[in-house]
Parts: sequence; C-alpha cells; structure tokens
Amino acid sequence: MTKHIFVTGGVVSSLGKGLTSASIGMLLEQRGLRVRMQKLDPYINVDPGTMSPYQHGEVYVLDDGSETDLDLGHYERFTNSPLTRDSNYTTGQIYLSVIEKERRGEFLGKTVQVIPHITNEIKSCIKKLAGDDVDVVITEIGGTVGDIESQPFLEAIRQFSLDIGKANCLYIHLTLVPYLKAAAEIKTKPTQHSVGLLRQIGIQPDILICRTERGMSQDDRSKIALFCNVASEAVIEEKDKDFSIYEVPFSLVQNGLDELIVKHLQLPAGKLDLSPWNDLMHRLRNPEHEISIAVVGKYAEHRDAYKSIYESIDHAGIHHRAQVRIGRIQSEDIEREGPERLLAGYDGILVPGGFGERGIEGKVEAIRFARERGIPFFGICLGMQCAAIEFGRNVVGLTDAHSSEFNKNTPHPVICLLDDQQNIVDKGGTMRLGAQVAKLAEGSRAREAYGVASIDERHRHRYEFNNSYRQQFIAHGMTFSGTSLDDGLVEIIELIDHPWFVAVQYHPEFKSKPTQAHPLFAGLIKAAIQRRQSRGERLKEIETT
Ligand code: GLN
Repeated sequence: MTKHIFVTGGVVSSLGKGLTSASIGMLLEQRGLRVRMQKLDPYINVDPGTMSPYQHGEVYVLDDGSETDLDLGHYERFTNSPLTRDSNYTTGQIYLSVIEKERRGEFLGKTVQVIPHITNEIKSCIKKLAGDDVDVVITEIGGTVGDIESQPFLEAIRQFSLDIGKANCLYIHLTLVPYLKAAAEIKTKPTQHSVGLLRQIGIQPDILICRTERGMSQDDRSKIALFCNVASEAVIEEKDKDFSIYEVPFSLVQNGLDELIVKHLQLPAGKLDLSPWNDLMHRLRNPEHEISIAVVGKYAEHRDAYKSIYESIDHAGIHHRAQVRIGRIQSEDIEREGPERLLAGYDGILVPGGFGERGIEGKVEAIRFARERGIPFFGICLGMQCAAIEFGRNVVGLTDAHSSEFNKNTPHPVICLLDDQQNIVDKGGTMRLGAQVAKLAEGSRAREAYGVASIDERHRHRYEFNNSYRQQFIAHGMTFSGTSLDDGLVEIIELIDHPWFVAVQYHPEFKSKPTQAHPLFAGLIKAAIQRRQSRGERLKEIETT
C-alpha cells in the first residue's frame, strides 16, 4: 500500500519547503523506494502560467505541457519521480473542477460546500498519485500554516489519515527557529505557535524540521519536543546552507531524517546509497576552473525568475569542474550603458526566455556583442528570437527586423506568431507547451553536444522563426541545426563560424540535473572555459573547504 508524507510550513514563507521535500524524495529514492512528488498551491489561479515572474518566479513546464510551480523543478532535479499535471494542483483548479461537476449536476441536488466537496476533491487529487508501483507519495502544501487560503488543504490532509489509517501517513512540519541577537539565543516560540495552529486544526506533526541560522543544542530540541508534543529525536535541525543547496539532503541524513521516516511508515527501504551525490559534492568543492557567465534578462535582479537557468549553469559547472560566477545583468542597463562596460569581462553570455518588449533592445545588443567578439553565447526561447532579430538586422541587412510580438508593423517580421496561435484569445495554458521532438543536423554543434540525432525538449512559446527568411539567413552563414520532424518549425539556430553561438526555441533548463548536466549548458561552459584559458588568464586559486 502507498504511504503518504505531507509537508507543511510555518512561521514564515520562503523557508525552503520545496527543497526540503525534494531532498526527502531524493533520500527515499536513494534507499531504493519508489517515490512520487506533488505540490498543492493555495492560490486561485488555475496554474502559475498567467502570473508575472515578479509574483511567482519561474513557471516550470513539464513534459505533458502543464505549467507548474517552480518547486517542481527542485523535485525533478533531486528525484526521478515522474511528474505530470497531477503533480501540481491549485485552489483555482480544485474549485474549477468542483464547479464544473456542479454544473453537470453531479452532486444530485446537494448544497456544494468546502467540506466535504472541496476537501474530497483535494483528497482525490492526492490519491491519484498512489498506486501499486509507488511506495511513498510526498505532498507539499504551499503557503504557511495560519493562512486563510491553505485551510481547505490542511483540512483535507487531516481527513486523509482517517481515510487510509494513521500509520500510513506522516506529517512533517518545517519551521523557523530564529536567532535573536539581542538575547544571544535562538527562539523556539514561533515554532510552538505554528505547531499550536496545526494542532488546532487537528494535525499533530510527527516530525519537525527546524530551519536555523545557528545550530540547535540538545536542550533546544528537548524544549521544542516537549512544547510541540513530538519525540525529541523527531526534532530535526536544518541549518542554513551557504555553499550549495545540494548540501541539504546531507544535513538531513546527518540528523537521521531518512531513518525516522522509514521507521515511522515501515517502508521497505534498503541501505542509503549517496554515491552519485557524494561525487557531485566532491566536484563542487574541488573545482579546477573558474569562469563567469552573464545572464542578460528582464528580471535579472529577481533570482526566482530564472531559477532553472541558474541551476542548469551550476550543473554544467559541476560537470566540467568549473566554479561559475553568474552575473545577473538587467538588459535595460545595457540599453543605457552599452554592452562593453557591463559584459566585457564575462566568459559567456546567456539570454533567457521572456515576454514583453521591455529590455529587448538590450538583449539584442548583448547578442551582437557576443557574436562580434566571439564570446560563447547561448540563447533560450526569447533569447533565440532576439538572436534571430540581431542577425537579421546586423548581418542579413534587414533594417528594422523584429518580432511581430513587439512590432506588428515591422517590415521584416523574422519572428512571427505560430500558425496555430492565430485564433487563440485565452491566455491560460494556450501556448505551444511541453515536450516536442526535434531532429538535429549532421555536423552541427547541437548534434555533437547531444550525441544523438533527435531530441525531446520542453516548449513554452507563441512565436517562432519566420520560415520565409530561412534561405536569406542561411546565405549569410546561419545554420538551422534543429527543426521539428516535419521541418516546419525552427528549434535551434547556430553560427558554426564562432566558438559557441547556439540558440534554441525550447527550454533546456527544464531537463538539467545536478548529476546529469544538460548537453547544451555543458557546451556553453566548455566554450567559456576555453575562452578563459585562451585569454591566458591565470586560474584563480579557489579555496576548498
Ligand atoms: N515571448 C516569446 C514567445 O511567446 C518567447 C517565450 C519564451 O521565452 N518563453 O514566443
């Protein structure tokens, strides 16, 4: 029978519930268990696809085309749990489904209420992940305990243990144990209050994971245990990790979390095998190169907006044993100050995806700079479209070439709306989304990097390269190295006559793992290392700890 773990959070938001849940999933998988991961989000949007990156951070796209919360990125990077649209539900989706059922008359005249109809719907979404081939489902509840929005979710997971038996459920609560400078001690009261709120709803957490800046003493643990009604060995310290997020699982193991879970749920677990992760940590701690990559975006100052991009750069750094310093450059700053001052020192330039006109000209300038100076360049989605605009304007000579997304009247729409987007009005879930197969041209950089003739990558876009410009671009030296199987859509463009100039219409950052870097990110980092070396700069001594 599938067992269930529920992860809630208290005291403050941004405690790292997603990372902690992903780490738990990873530890259980490394003990031979079959894990499924899920996130329940209390907001009313049906999915995060319609939210601004300022509000929500990156929208993480799955193979099946669902637009999901960025925590699912952590799940995929840490575990092999297959994720589908059942892996992320929002309040909006839950209500939408209940209201549609009501309209169909499925409730047979009953008054439709939060309890039981909404809670039943939530429970059925959790149950969808259980099955004969699954040992444990880990369900993370978004938001913070005490929020009005998350109450139906908490009520549903409370009922869940009544439905399937207490012994088959485990409640983990993540809290903050702050250090108060003035008192020179850590404070347990916020944790007590947060657990108090949970117990009021009827949920007694089995395990508390305490985020702390400073370590906790045995006394602190005993005090939390006593006041929160949990065993003292079930008070787990999770100290802040400054070096890398990939240290989190190690710290949880040190504090006995995996064993605690396995015992509590009586899981058929094997011995913990962390060898791939030990290797990763070793590489991280012992780099042989140091390079810098500029990420030129519209939301560069907002870390979560390009979460998977930054992670993928790190993975490629781990792969090539390079410590990568990432420069987060606002593309509008390039418009004001020019590329030379902001980009000259970098070993590589990456332009990520995006929407809207703001900062476009800065991105185009950054790409021109990379192309003309031979700086390794990687363009992703809008980054590829900007590369096409730049090449159209400055190499092919198409004055005012643009994307029709930004200039409807451009004389040269080198980027135009996808054919099947012409009549779409609704914004939610209507882009070209999810995994699509592309074929790679023999002899291209992309073909060499991937090492295979066809690939499967995730998409999220409405615009595409305008095929009526293909021949002109080819005549001026552009290679179309990846196209859809029917040749109709351009997926990858590259300049062979450049150390590394590759741009893709899809989002490779959703398929990179710390233990398995994405080939194109690895290609960028390799080219950046070569550039750094060819410039003859001495590699900086890097402190290893
Ligand atoms: N705005 C562009 C499009 O819709 C690029 C999208 C993206 O970068 N994800 O095609």
